[in-house]
Amino acid sequence: MITNKTTLVGIIGWPLGHSLSPDMHNAGFTHLKLDYAYVPLSVHTGNLAAAIAGLKVLGFRGANVTIPHKEAVIEHLDELDASAMEIGAVNTIVFDDGRSIGYNTDAEGFIYSLYAANVPIADNTAILLGAGGAARAVVAGLLDNGISKVIVGARDIDKVTKFVHQFSGNKVIPCDWQSQQFEQLLSTGEIIINSTPLGMYPEISSAPPVNWQAVNKKAVAYDLVYNPLQTTFLKTAAAHGIRTISGEGMLVAQGAIAFELWTGERAPFKVMHAKILELLTKS
Ligand code: NAP
Repeated sequence: MITNKTTLVGIIGWPLGHSLSPDMHNAGFTHLKLDYAYVPLSVHTGNLAAAIAGLKVLGFRGANVTIPHKEAVIEHLDELDASAMEIGAVNTIVFDDGRSIGYNTDAEGFIYSLYAANVPIADNTAILLGAGGAARAVVAGLLDNGISKVIVGARDIDKVTKFVHQFSGNKVIPCDWQSQQFEQLLSTGEIIINSTPLGMYPEISSAPPVNWQAVNKKAVAYDLVYNPLQTTFLKTAAAHGIRTISGEGMLVAQGAIAFELWTGERAPFKVMHAKILELLTKS
């Protein structure tokens, strides 16, 4: 039951589409018998400042932030945590004593899901497909955990080069994913990650261009896309004898970290994961 004592959190984005986060978080709140409710909130770009001010005065405890507001929201917040500062984007807001604090739980969620699957990171090489917002969190997380090299391939070499310049040092290397050089580098990767939306429902037959024959057979293929759970990228990797990991683990982990920031309670990870799997297998 929602009353005037219920603590509210939500997700802001545009167009919001069908977000799985409300069901995932509400399942967690119910399990821990917390008087919290998570609501979807469609916020048009022009209304972002008013929406943040509105959430604050309405007494919201926090919010998740999704496309297209992850970067634009920064100027409307009072503070940024180190995670958001490093990535340059916010996916979680906490309202605390009248102040709004921005966090980014994507990098930690991604890393959590890799370790949960027993994938070592330190001193290894990752091949990353795509150079957008999620890729930035992935690279930040990998660098913080001692990756030796990240080769970033995407369709537009100028954009990849610009992307790579955001990271200091020389561990992040840009590449045109259609080039011969990229094909040669494929064999050097222990982890190959899709951070493009290619393969996401409803365009489920699409996938980034990977010559799987050239990929190291001991590599792990990781897809940030979680709907469907088995993307064309992962199915093709598996057909070549390569171990696969779907993005739903990251979705749950980044959500669990946000849950803990809002409630101060340990997130019921298994309950939240089961809810996501239930939603993704029935759709
Ligand atoms: P984004 O900022 O829009 O970046 C997407 C990247 O994919 C860009 O490099 C883009 O290249 C490339 N791309 C897009 N469409 C393409 C196409 N048709 N052909 C080739 N390249 C294409 O998106 P994002 O925020 O990084 O999200 C990427 C994916 O990760 C989404 O599917 C999102 O749902 C997923 N994600 C999952 C989680 C999770 O918890 N599992 C968390 C965050 C994101 P251009 O710049 O050239 O367009």
